[in-house]
Amino acid sequence: MKKDLQEVADIISNSKSMIAFTGAGISVESGIPPFRGPDGLWSRYDPQCLDLDYFHLNPVESWKAIKSIFYDFFGEAKSNGAHKVLAQLEEKGLLKAVVTQNIDNLHQEAGSKTVYEFHGNSQKLVCLQCGKSYVPSEVNLDELPPKCEHDKKILKPDFVFFGEGIPEAAYRKSLQAARDADVVLVIGTTGEVMPAAMIPTEAKRNGAVVIEINTEESNYTDGITDYFLRGKASEILRQLNEVLNGYNY
Ligand code: NAD
Repeated sequence: MKKDLQEVADIISNSKSMIAFTGAGISVESGIPPFRGPDGLWSRYDPQCLDLDYFHLNPVESWKAIKSIFYDFFGEAKSNGAHKVLAQLEEKGLLKAVVTQNIDNLHQEAGSKTVYEFHGNSQKLVCLQCGKSYVPSEVNLDELPPKCEHDKKILKPDFVFFGEGIPEAAYRKSLQAARDADVVLVIGTTGEVMPAAMIPTEAKRNGAVVIEINTEESNYTDGITDYFLRGKASEILRQLNEVLNGYNY
């Protein structure tokens, strides 16, 4: 592991266009569970609440679960050491962009500037009629579903529901960043959700070195991963940052 960390730090310090691809695992230490697994959100909630057709047909039921998961439960979450190290790597000029599947806004909260949100962001609600957007904390969620103050139509969280397409700009920019990348840090993701899961594969196809950080093996580990650093994202990134801090830039 020590040898791997040193090798990985060398690769990162020589990289010109590194990106990070993050999933639910990077936010676990902020108190937000992943969707899958024994403690995952789907062991407590019905995934149907995030199905677009269901949302249109049953907005009150859908909104009850959405409010409980995304606003009551994760609303107070703060970024952790892993999000912060990525922001520092960007500041040092070592990281070009974060492509995230997460919708929790924690990369931006930690200070990352270039973040491509593949699945949108829960910290924005949008009117399905006029497109006006709202900050959730400024909307009354005691009465569900919340409605636009102008046309009284339903507000929807600005993240991607099942059955909905990927936001066009995030998709295009993520793919371009993956194709341009010489290194990709794959952090806390199973690699099961398509089309997001193709980002590291696309980077690898274009010659990038794949460095994976996860507590467990993922779909990438035996396939495209060059270096697998096992452990919690904040701990591994802290150690990596310590080694990198010993280099001169
Ligand atoms: P996932 O739920 O499928 O898998 C989580 C991964 O994180 C697993 O590989 C697990 O081994 C790893 N992990 C758990 N704790 C970790 C830690 N402390 N450090 C490092 N790795 C750790 O997550 P996914 O692949 O990202 O896909 C799930 C989908 O769910 C995504 O599309 C995402 O939009 C959504 N989601 C987002 C959030 C969020 O915004 N924080 C939370 C749950 C789900």
